[in-house]
Amino acid sequence: MTIRPTTSARSVDEHREHVEQLLRPLALRDVAEVSMTEVLGRVLARDVRSPLDLPVFRNSGMDGYAVRAESVAVTPVTLPLAGVVAAGQTGQTPLPPGAAMKVMTGAPIPPGADCVVPVEDTRVDGSEVIVEKGRRTGDFVREAGTDARAGDLLVPAGTLVAPRHVAALAAVGLARLPVFRRVRAAVLTTGDELVSAGASLRPGQIYNSNGIALASALAVNGVEVVSVEHSRDDAGEFQNKLGRATEVADVVFTSGGVSKGDFEVVKDVLSTRGGDFGTVAVQPGGPQGVTVVDGVPVLSFPGNPVSTVVSFEVFARPVLRELSGLPPVPKCEVPLLDSARSPAGRRQYLRGRMEIDGVALASGPGSHLVATMAQADVLIDVPEEVTELAAGSLVTVWEL
Ligand code: AMP
Ligand code: MG
Repeated sequence: MTIRPTTSARSVDEHREHVEQLLRPLALRDVAEVSMTEVLGRVLARDVRSPLDLPVFRNSGMDGYAVRAESVAVTPVTLPLAGVVAAGQTGQTPLPPGAAMKVMTGAPIPPGADCVVPVEDTRVDGSEVIVEKGRRTGDFVREAGTDARAGDLLVPAGTLVAPRHVAALAAVGLARLPVFRRVRAAVLTTGDELVSAGASLRPGQIYNSNGIALASALAVNGVEVVSVEHSRDDAGEFQNKLGRATEVADVVFTSGGVSKGDFEVVKDVLSTRGGDFGTVAVQPGGPQGVTVVDGVPVLSFPGNPVSTVVSFEVFARPVLRELSGLPPVPKCEVPLLDSARSPAGRRQYLRGRMEIDGVALASGPGSHLVATMAQADVLIDVPEEVTELAAGSLVTVWEL
């Protein structure tokens, strides 16, 4: 598919589908082992079964007194205190008939006991305990294997590991887990005017924000960022750095150098390598390029910081989340609190800020307004054919 020239630009949906077709083959496949501290946010590659019973042993669910239910059938009753069992205690002293043994939450139930009277229902009198409220067999006793049995499926393959899964996996003592290797991405920014944060600016220079912005967007969408590099607007340097990026990554993102200026290094170099460069009917982010370099998809976004972020959100984020096993970003319809205009024939993505009763415009349409974008928490999707939106119109938004 070729991106059409401006006069009949490709639609957003067509371009996104094109990108998705290219990236889908990167679906999670290689399995890696990670430690428990790295498993959060990863996708399990295999079913994980419990290696043991949970609870591991019969234990007390309360701080209280382990007794036989028959001993406390009639209350109040005074029982001799036969000892104390702390959590972590390994020895197992049996409960003498008719006695009580003090137990802490999580401590093994002494053999012979069949329920626990909570400490608040008792009083101690020297070496005796007075039980004021009776309990039935099984009360506050956590039987072994009632949470999971050895061999039970604990977390199925394909699960995106959340803190609750980590808790279960850790509770059965697993130290290493099989997960899918993440999609690896490289970011390559371009522009002679750009310098890294920390350096001082000379006249005409600006700081490079797209490199780290793209890397951050990739990371929070489950992608492993393996390289973030910058190239001057120099064909040789760009070729070199692109070559290294395609060696280490499954997909490469470039920023800048795709418009109609005099030094469009990305477009110039990649057009000679089969790149598909043209205009998508979208604002911001119209100029877009897609190339496959040595088998590696290279997505080329325009350099304006808002265009870069919107391009990522619209064209790359949905498929990357799918590839990472993350749920789709939810979209919802809300009233627009301001009025807005939109160019005919172009789908516009406005930056919005969610309020209680709808979404407010967070910024003007300028694609250089990077600081203002920080105040937005959603993108507002304005269809191609819409040119005016009155306050109160329903618009589709999704979270940035
Ligand atoms: P370009 O797409 O290269 O024509 O760049 C469009 C605008 O975005 C220019 O004002 C550039 O200075 C700016 N720009 C390009 N790349 C970056 C970047 N990595 N970080 C911040 N601004 C950029
Ligand atoms: Mg440039």
